[in-house]
Amino acid sequence: MQQSSCAVRMLFPYEPRPFQLEALLELSRHVKRWNVVLEAPTGFGKTPVVLAALIPYIKRGYRVLWAVRTGSETDRPVEELRAFLKAGVRVLGVSYRGKRDMCLLARKYGRGLSYLEVAYICEREKERCPYYANLRAGLDLKPFMEAGAVTYSELFSIAESMGVCPYYAQRRLVKYADLVSLNYNYVIDRRLEWSIRRLIPFSKSILVIDEAHNIQYLNLEGDEVTEGTLRRAFAEAEEAGDNAVASFISQLTDRVKSAFSHLSEEEDEVFTPSQLVPLSAASLLERAEKLGEAIRRARLEEGQRPRSSLYHLATFFIKALELEGVDGVVFVAERERGTLRLRIWDMRVSEILRDRWLKFRSCIFMSGTLEPLDAFAEVIGLGDYKVVRVPNLYGRDNVRVYIVKGLSTRGAELSIEMASAYVEAITRFIKRVRSNTAIFTSSYRVQERLIGAGLRVEAEKLGFKVIAETRLMSGVEARRMLEEFKELASSGRGLLVAPMAGRFAEGADFPGEQLRGVFLAGIPFEKPTTKTRLYVEYFTKLYGEERGRLYAYVYPALRRASQAMGRALRGPNDKAVIVLGDERYLRYLNLLPDYVKELYEIIGVEELDEVELPWA
Ligand code: SF4
Repeated sequence: MQQSSCAVRMLFPYEPRPFQLEALLELSRHVKRWNVVLEAPTGFGKTPVVLAALIPYIKRGYRVLWAVRTGSETDRPVEELRAFLKAGVRVLGVSYRGKRDMCLLARKYGRGLSYLEVAYICEREKERCPYYANLRAGLDLKPFMEAGAVTYSELFSIAESMGVCPYYAQRRLVKYADLVSLNYNYVIDRRLEWSIRRLIPFSKSILVIDEAHNIQYLNLEGDEVTEGTLRRAFAEAEEAGDNAVASFISQLTDRVKSAFSHLSEEEDEVFTPSQLVPLSAASLLERAEKLGEAIRRARLEEGQRPRSSLYHLATFFIKALELEGVDGVVFVAERERGTLRLRIWDMRVSEILRDRWLKFRSCIFMSGTLEPLDAFAEVIGLGDYKVVRVPNLYGRDNVRVYIVKGLSTRGAELSIEMASAYVEAITRFIKRVRSNTAIFTSSYRVQERLIGAGLRVEAEKLGFKVIAETRLMSGVEARRMLEEFKELASSGRGLLVAPMAGRFAEGADFPGEQLRGVFLAGIPFEKPTTKTRLYVEYFTKLYGEERGRLYAYVYPALRRASQAMGRALRGPNDKAVIVLGDERYLRYLNLLPDYVKELYEIIGVEELDEVELPWA
């Protein structure tokens, strides 16, 4: 399978950027026998490189499963495939979405249904579903197959206009697809993987994990219930007239309240499920589950959303009791925004995923922030693997990096003096940069503190429009905000304020003038909550004291910071000024992108007035 340089180059549909052909050749060579970790800076163009390396394997009959973090990212590899199709490559790529996005019948039950609710509707209604009947009557797949690249939204619109079920139409097409891009869950979650494995044998497939740094901290068997779930479950049992179940839920509610009444806002603690539901109550739990199931069915038959809090509560505790005592699974009660939550927290990533990778012909893990690679491999249970590492693409022509002395978000609370120092530093910076800028904060708490200390007022005085991410923002609001920020690029007066663990610091792309200044206010270490302590304890048990703390606490924070600063560098022509606003970054230089290590300068707050602008 080894490709000559010339053959590989012919497969690549663009004028190659620096290092793309070299990475392509290496990948193409290794993936034949090995799992591969591809570490490449943001803006390198990993997707076309990996596609070009895999096309010869597709030609030999292998399939490609391209796993992405969120549903909205599934179209990207398929859209990228179009460039290869234009260059004469004949393959079929399809992006795959679950029933929640693809079911036409579920619409009549209202908006915002969960995946489980739509799956439930389909399970019960499929045989009577007119869209399924139309699909069975026949669907010509030829036009889709001839298109070569079919996104889920294209397939959905066509299926909708024909009155056929888009979900099952998509599954028919996937059987013939050479490349399927889909959410991580379809290859990682044992409850979902069968639905894909039935269509595409994993052993004959190459798995690509895109933005692979995300899979290290998945909560694989996680679930949660709240006080609201308990309240609604009780009301359902009462309304159904089942006194035994109603009284059981009432007692459970009392036990939960008395066990955690002392928790104040943002406090948490570990609990043991059998303390809340004694084993003697197991039969009542099963009865509650059955009653919840009957309620779901009745609601569906009445044309309502098939939701039952009683069902959810019962299945939560059944699962929690099954997992009690399992190493790596913990149960945490926490009060958040006034509501008590009980959570199942599953930390067994390495244990669960270790066997998963063996199911595939080979796997490619790609990201710009996987360093240190041995730690990444250990945490995801990856044994032997080859590394393809792309060198730094960004020099002084592209980027300036400054680490500011005297600033730090260290400590439980940001003092008034430090918050004011940050506001002064940011004001000096944006006054100098006068372009679209993002302030990525170490947490919402720090963000609120900076805004409280006058950040918004000072920025507005300078003519900036401040756009701040909020905790309860919906996806639609977030998209609107992002568009508004990007539109401000022409005037250079947008100031985005968002936490590094939020949705903008990782998921959003800001090429060119859309983002030229980045200021990281702090290092996004996890809050020292019970969950954080448990993570560190579990990882310490697995990897020893030093590595345990690094893996569970330090590396994730520095990866988040690296992702955030990379928002402004989406291609070799991008130019940006990046300020690391926390002097502790100096301690962690070896964990930051190469351009930081190579270009950083240490400055004081006053010198932010004079930072160099690579575009000036
Ligand atoms: S067959 Fe399709 S449209 Fe009908 S219920 Fe199932 S997913 Fe929905």
